[in-house]
Amino acid sequence: MKNGGLRSRLFFSHLIVLVVALVTILAIGKIFSPRFFAVYLRQIEVRGFRVWQYRKELVRGFDTAWSRGALWAVVSGVGTAAGVSYWLSRRIVQPLEQMEEITQKFAAGEMDERMGAQEIEEFDHLAMSFNRMAAAIENIEHRRRDLVSDLTHELRTPLTVLAGYLEGLSDGAIDPTPEVHQRLLSETTRMRRLVDDLQELSKMEAGYLAIDVQPLDLQPLLSSLVQRFSDQLLDETSPNLKLIYPPAVPLVLADAERVEQILVNLIGNAIRYTPAGSIEVSVKPDGSRVWIAISDTGIGIAPEDLPQVFERFWRADRSRNRTSGGTGIGLAISRRLVELQGGAIEVESELGVGSTFRFSLPIA
Ligand code: ADP
Repeated sequence: MKNGGLRSRLFFSHLIVLVVALVTILAIGKIFSPRFFAVYLRQIEVRGFRVWQYRKELVRGFDTAWSRGALWAVVSGVGTAAGVSYWLSRRIVQPLEQMEEITQKFAAGEMDERMGAQEIEEFDHLAMSFNRMAAAIENIEHRRRDLVSDLTHELRTPLTVLAGYLEGLSDGAIDPTPEVHQRLLSETTRMRRLVDDLQELSKMEAGYLAIDVQPLDLQPLLSSLVQRFSDQLLDETSPNLKLIYPPAVPLVLADAERVEQILVNLIGNAIRYTPAGSIEVSVKPDGSRVWIAISDTGIGIAPEDLPQVFERFWRADRSRNRTSGGTGIGLAISRRLVELQGGAIEVESELGVGSTFRFSLPIA
């Protein structure tokens, strides 16, 4: 209805301009044309035409002819102008109506419709911006749906396991052994980790995570972390963990706590996916940044899986990693944390040979 309002307003504004123009033309014409005609008669009288005695008759005749001509001019002029004005108002209002229709469809969940190219340049720009906004909203909506479905899937499995054990325990089909309690505990721990990780990831995606970058010396941070992990790897078969730190590494601009979080994720993964062998944490300055690499001689990742490793909930082998406690969110969080600090993260891996995850941080 509002667009109808705009259309009639445009139409009437054109009409007002037309009426003002016509009234001016007619008034000036009506006042001056007979006078000019009388002046003309006098001029031809001087040249020898005997018309002066009929001048009143002639001027009246001229006036009538002029009025008739003006009437027809007004009728056809107004008709044509009204037609053009109607067409023009439609051309302006039509894309607005289309846009309104698409927004209504969007609100109702139909998100695939877009604006076509427009003849009027400004409308074309508006249509393109509108389409960009529509694509962004559609993308967010897809991600939201994926997240909800991933999440339900991820929570359903531990819940089913818990319910199964609890039922078995309550009707006596399962003995309450320490292993059973351990299994119950590990499923609840996994769910808690999943919820914690998700909260962290959603904070980051919403941009609420505070990152406090400061000049940072990586050496003490890396040594203490490597020491901490090494202390847990006391088993004979555990991989061997070492740090390679070259001299004269410049300070980086980063948030120490967040860098530690990334390293815990990456070293933790390397240990988890390296049943035996070695893990090396190394540092390499490169131009305006410093690269930190974590290389393992573990199970590796298949080439077709490499592009997905940083996607949330992605795991190479869902069932195996679920029992090992993986949630598939660690690398998604690490990537966001690296990006928030102005760095990049990448991976190289070969199945059965090992993987190298490396990330960069800007030099202070
Ligand atoms: P998770 O909690 O499952 O480890 P991540 O996001 O940290 O979640 O890792 C996603 C998946 O990437 C893992 O489930 C695993 O399949 C694979 N992955 C990560 N790091 C390594 C690694 N160092 N070696 C082999 N596979 C890895």
